[in-house]
Amino acid sequence: MAAKVIDGKALAATVRQEFKRRTDSLIEAGLRPGLAVILVGDNPASRAYVRNKTKACADVGIYSLLSEFTVNTPQDDILRHIHQLNADPAIHGILVQLPLPPHFDLRLILDAIAQEKDVDGFHLYNVGGLISGNTVFPPCTPYGVQRLLESENIDVAGQNVVVVGASNIVGKPMALMLLQRDATVCICHAKTRDLAQFTVLADILIVAAGKPNLILPEMVKTSAVVIDVGINRLPDGRLIGDVDFEGVRQKASYITPVPGGVGPMTVTMLLGNTVESAERFAALRH
Ligand code: NAD
Repeated sequence: MAAKVIDGKALAATVRQEFKRRTDSLIEAGLRPGLAVILVGDNPASRAYVRNKTKACADVGIYSLLSEFTVNTPQDDILRHIHQLNADPAIHGILVQLPLPPHFDLRLILDAIAQEKDVDGFHLYNVGGLISGNTVFPPCTPYGVQRLLESENIDVAGQNVVVVGASNIVGKPMALMLLQRDATVCICHAKTRDLAQFTVLADILIVAAGKPNLILPEMVKTSAVVIDVGINRLPDGRLIGDVDFEGVRQKASYITPVPGGVGPMTVTMLLGNTVESAERFAALRH
């Protein structure tokens, strides 16, 4: 039987209603959640992501402030701007759109963000929190995947989970979050030899490599849950994931589509972290 396709767009719409209700309550109490987005350079994909994020904020009533810097902006100017946002009471979340142009010191810039406003969860303090199980803000993409799994009542405890991709923003935090929920986790990456020997063991397979058709049906266990995080643009403009969707859906029990799977949940969880942050600030006022 073909897999159930998990509709990330529909789940995102439902979850956003919850965030809108929480935003409305905060506004009633005199505090409007605010997100600052910093865009450096002129990467068209980054620009599109930023547009998406600011629009999503508007949809639920979150104030958003977009700051754009040219690729030649001195790093100190960006750091100074982050420090201003750290001190700005109208801002509860700050994110720097990645990737940054390569001549910037990524670590220095991410760690300049106040930990309590680090809604992307990339500050070293937040990364440490993930490891020790004291997460401050879960990184948005893995957090979105977690919500997708929960929405289908897929319990990860004791399951074999294979994460393909070991980046700091998706693969590694994803693995840590699932480990925290008692999954048995294996992380594969570009240097993994014979990827299939690992993926066939997965009860839950999460793929975030950025390689179209990396995962073929013969690499997937029958009835596995397959979550495709990858986003790849084909020369004809179409977006596809990392998984051979049509082939793998005949074998899996659940599968996420691209587009319309993990992507909408990533932006949604950013809204969630921003609302959460504003609620924490509101609690401190009392
Ligand atoms: P990245 O390039 O930083 O990391 C890719 C990871 O995949 C690396 O660890 C690399 O070793 C591994 N990898 C590459 N080729 C591989 C192969 N052949 N076999 C096994 N592992 C391989 O990318 P990223 O930022 O983690 O993003 C990964 C993908 O997820 C991209 O397609 C990106 O567009 C997408 N993405 C989607 C969302 C979303 O919201 N849906 C969010 C972030 C990233």
